Amino acid sequence: MTLGFPFEQTTTPLSDEERAAILADPGFGRYFTDHMASAGWTPAAGWHNSRVGPLQPFSLHPSAAVLHYAQEIFEGLKAYRHADDSVWLFRPELNARRFARSATRLALPELPEEAFVQSVEELVKADEAWVPAYGGEQSLYLRPFMFASEPFLGVRPAAHVTYSVVASPAGPYFSSGVTGVTLWVSNTYTRAAVGGMGAAKTGGNYAGGLVAQLEAQEHGCDQVLYLDGAEHRWLEESGTMNLCLITSDGELITPGLGTILEGVTRGSVLQLVTEHGLTPVERRVSIDELRAGCRDGSITEVFAVGTAAVITPIVGFKGDGYEAVVGDRQPGKITLAVREHILDLQYGRVPDSRGWLR
Ligand code: PMP
Repeated sequence: MTLGFPFEQTTTPLSDEERAAILADPGFGRYFTDHMASAGWTPAAGWHNSRVGPLQPFSLHPSAAVLHYAQEIFEGLKAYRHADDSVWLFRPELNARRFARSATRLALPELPEEAFVQSVEELVKADEAWVPAYGGEQSLYLRPFMFASEPFLGVRPAAHVTYSVVASPAGPYFSSGVTGVTLWVSNTYTRAAVGGMGAAKTGGNYAGGLVAQLEAQEHGCDQVLYLDGAEHRWLEESGTMNLCLITSDGELITPGLGTILEGVTRGSVLQLVTEHGLTPVERRVSIDELRAGCRDGSITEVFAVGTAAVITPIVGFKGDGYEAVVGDRQPGKITLAVREHILDLQYGRVPDSRGWLR
């Protein structure tokens, strides 16, 4: 299906000076580009009215279903500027596929994968000047999302749905060097259950995680490590990142899919680590195995992976009545090497032999 996202240029873009001032220190998620992509859906018309046009607020009826029943999904990916000034996306078709899976789980209409990728590409083309300069791990963060815009208070799949993409320049995640973080192993809160929405990228999963994040901070930790909902025993993921463990016998272990988000970075790391002498393994890991491995040195490095930070070294854990330290509490050597490897691919510093850039 070809949807097409024709371009209608804004008549009120920010000036070059205003944009330059923002790009000098964009932070994350605070500033938005001049344009947005959008499309509507109804059962009768299917996807329609697709375009890239001026960034503008939505007009929503107070009864819009999303405001009441949270029928909403989203994605996150980045556009990277290379040294030759060209601009690239990293495996956007994986985000398109995950978006379609999230849509199915939330009883939202599937946006064809080509249309998803096209909407992102056309928005990046329209706002290319907003892609930060090469060097310094900056990027243009892209946020596709879809929600039930139908004004109706009945609980059922919406008959009017809105799709949109906005773009926001992002500064380096670690502005003063890569540092390790500590995770809080929550016994109070879980993120997902078998049959639930854990594998979908839907706002409710993040709303439910905020109080757990506060709990982590109260215990002096940076982020939450979620255990499974049934036994409170098996590692799942952190708030917005997947988990990876490196063992002394050369395995890279990551929890298997099911109730966690299937991260694009996770999948990429699983493919790349063979080049770092590691065997990728997807399997269940218990919190007891993690604690014992940290104690006896059989788990040598731990890190979290996701689009935002690429790879965040994890140097310790805390839970109810215990603390564990990973290695010597410093970011691991392999962790940092794999991080550089992915960044080199994303920023075009090594050949893209797998065809991951678009
Ligand atoms: N888990 C969760 C819950 C997330 O929100 C994210 C970020 N999308 C990830 C894992 C990592 O996914 P990705 O590598 O695709 O960014």
